[in-house]
Parts: sequence; structure tokens; C-alpha cells
Amino acid sequence: MEYRALRGVEDLIPPESLRFERVVDAFKRVVERAGFKEVILPVFEEARLFTRSVGESSDIVKKEMYVFEDKGGRVIALRPEGTASAVRAYVEHGVYAKEPFTKWFYVGPMFRFERPQAGRKRQFFQAGVELFGFSQPGADAELIKVADDILKELSVEATLEINSIGCKECRPKYREALIEFLKERVGQLCPDCVERFERNPLRVLDCKNEGCRQVVSGAPKITDYLCDGCREHYEKVKEYLNLLGVEFRENPFLVRGLDYYTRTVFEFKSSGLGAQSTVLAGGRYDYLIGEIGGPETPALGFAMGIDRVMLLLPELEEKREGVFVITRGEEAYREGLELVNFLRSKGIKAEIDHRQGSFKAQMKAADRVKAEFAVIIGEEEVKEGFYSLKELSTGKQEKVETREELLARL
Ligand code: ATP
Ligand code: MG
Repeated sequence: MEYRALRGVEDLIPPESLRFERVVDAFKRVVERAGFKEVILPVFEEARLFTRSVGESSDIVKKEMYVFEDKGGRVIALRPEGTASAVRAYVEHGVYAKEPFTKWFYVGPMFRFERPQAGRKRQFFQAGVELFGFSQPGADAELIKVADDILKELSVEATLEINSIGCKECRPKYREALIEFLKERVGQLCPDCVERFERNPLRVLDCKNEGCRQVVSGAPKITDYLCDGCREHYEKVKEYLNLLGVEFRENPFLVRGLDYYTRTVFEFKSSGLGAQSTVLAGGRYDYLIGEIGGPETPALGFAMGIDRVMLLLPELEEKREGVFVITRGEEAYREGLELVNFLRSKGIKAEIDHRQGSFKAQMKAADRVKAEFAVIIGEEEVKEGFYSLKELSTGKQEKVETREELLARL
């Protein structure tokens, strides 16, 4: 083969693309019901936007970002995630000054240079939401409930894990305690974590390496170090989640791979995905808007991995739909072409086989495209002026005199 798609970059051809649409439709249904509106953001930005927001020491920025220089010498990155762009747009357009709070959602491709495997691609798709303007814990609970609703709508089973990773006030104290703990165990950490230990020790908690997880299981817990404000916030989030009937598990070692989070973080994990278990993840990021030059605005959001959700979707029984027109002879074919056109204009799915093979071959084609009905126009039909309407699932056939009558029967 001379040309192939790049490694980790997959085509979604039918029926996979239909599964993709199903996920997006369900996502949109749920978030629109909750008042979120779509924002369409660029797939590339100045690289420094991501360096600043996702964080210099994050895996995404350090190892995974597609960065290149454009012909004007600008340093560009293909977006590795959606929040940075959403926040940039929110600030750039002064949205904070026009609305008391803002609810956005987005759907689109993201790009990360990772080792491709099931559920991990270099071009993948996220559906995400951002909620700007609420510092209150009720917003955290509402957002998590929306995420829960999306997965339920798709019949995807996943376990919710939550944690609080504190704020500027309390996290440094925890960081100290963690460094103190890890210092004596650096030798047991993977090479990546040895570096994380130097640059951003909280990241060690997020490592998937078995040895590191072993070490981490004995580490101090951030929830024991939260300041009063963060503790109260966290308690309230849990209280409201209970109120809304959302089941969760507290995981005091849950941190996220991005630097911008504060207080609440959460992940929905599924056992059906092997190592790539997280299908949806998010949290609160109260400092990010201020950090990229906007007024300090509390915010939170999440992103769902569409590719991973697709792996978990139950198989869909393809349902029969529409009409397949089968003809014999030029006159019948001409009538067929017009009929297809007529049916489509009435909103009915209609197809025709231009090859005009045998009845049997055309019947087979009708079955393969999963038509509900075949309309047969043969020599007899042309001569006497009627259609034969055949229901493909039962084989029942009847005569229909006119297009209008046909329409009424469908
Ligand atoms: P992981 O720990 O699996 O690498 P992450 O923390 O990097 O995930 P986020 O940046 O939080 O992931 O992205 C949110 C969601 O997007 C993930 O939970 C996952 O479902 C999906 N996702 C992330 N990276 C990929 C990828 N390379 N391929 C497919 N889906 C991905
Ligand atoms: Mg990752």
C-alpha cells in the first residue's frame, strides 16, 4: 500500500462513524438540557497557550504536543485538549463582562503524540464542557451529575472517583509532606517519576507504573492537609452528590495530569478498557482564567474521550429504514428515478440501484442497505400502472396504485 493514514490516526468509516455520531448526539442532548451552548474553537493555537495553561512539566506539554513553526515563524501547536482554547476565547471576547456565568460545550479532535494502542490515539476526540463563574460547590456537583447523565444515556458503566487537590493555600503544605515521604523512596520510582519528583511531585500520584503505585499507596493523603475552605467545599460537593443520587468513590490519590486544577477533581473509570480506563475526567480550575490574563474567575469543566466511550458502547442492532426501488427496463428505471426523488422530497429515505442487475441482485442490495421496503417496478407494473410494495422483514407484498397511496403506506 502506497498511502496509509498516520500511526495512531484512525479513519472512522461507517458503521464506526455512526457510533461516533451516537455518542455525540447523546452528549449534546444531555448538556443542552442543562443549558450548555456549543463553542467552536480552533484546532491549532500558539503553543505557549498550552505551555502556560496545561503546564510546563505536564506530560502533555513535555512529551505529547505536536508543535511546529508555521511559514511566518510562529510556534504553533495542534491542540492537545480543549480547556485552554475555551478559556482563551472566554477572555479574548470579554465574555465574563457580558454574562453572569457561562456554560459552553465543544466537540472535536485533539492531538497528542502518544504510543498508540486501544483507547489511546494520536488524533482522538473529546466532548467537553466548561462552566465559568461559579465558585460554589453546588456547581461541582451539578457538573459531575451532567457527566454521569451522559454516560447513563449511553449505557456506559463507569465508576466515579473524586478527590480534592486543595488550593494555593493548602497544597504547598501537602507537597512538602509528599516530598518528605517520597525522598526516601526515590529509588523505587520509575525514571519518569524520578523526574516528576524533582519538578512536580504530585504527578507521581498519577503514574500508572505498578512499582510507583505501590509506593504511592502508603503516601500521605492530600485530604488530610486541606485548609478549612477547601475541606468545607469538598464536604459540600459530596453532600450534593448524595442529594442528586450520584454514586462515587473517594480516591485521595487522584490527581489530574494537567496543572491547572484546584479543589475538586474527578474521573469516571471503566473496567472494560484495560489500562486506558478513564473515559471522562475533569475538575475545578479557579486560577486558570486569571493566569492567562483574564479577571480571576472560578471555573470547572470536564472532557469525555469519545474514542474510549465508543469501545464501551453496546452493539447497536441496525434497524431497517426507508425504501429501495427496484426496476427493470428503461421505462421502469425512469419511473424509479422520479419516485426516489419524490420520496426524498417527502422526507423518506430512498435509494435505487443504477446497475439495473437482476431482480435477485437488486433485492440483495436492498437487504444489504437495510431498507425497510422494496418498491418493485417491473414490466407488468409499468404496463398496468402500479407499484409492488414489499416489506423486507416479512416478505409480505402488496399492490399500490399511486405515489400518494405509497406514501401513506410507508
Ligand atoms: P490518560 O491518563 O489516560 O492519559 P489523560 O489524563 O491524559 O488520560 P485528559 O487529558 O484528562 O486525559 O483527557 C480526558 C479524556 O480524554 C481521557 O479521560 C480519555 O478518555 C481521553 N483521552 C486522553 N488522551 C487520549 C488519547 N491519546 N486517545 C484517546 N483518548 C484519550
Ligand atoms: Mg494522557
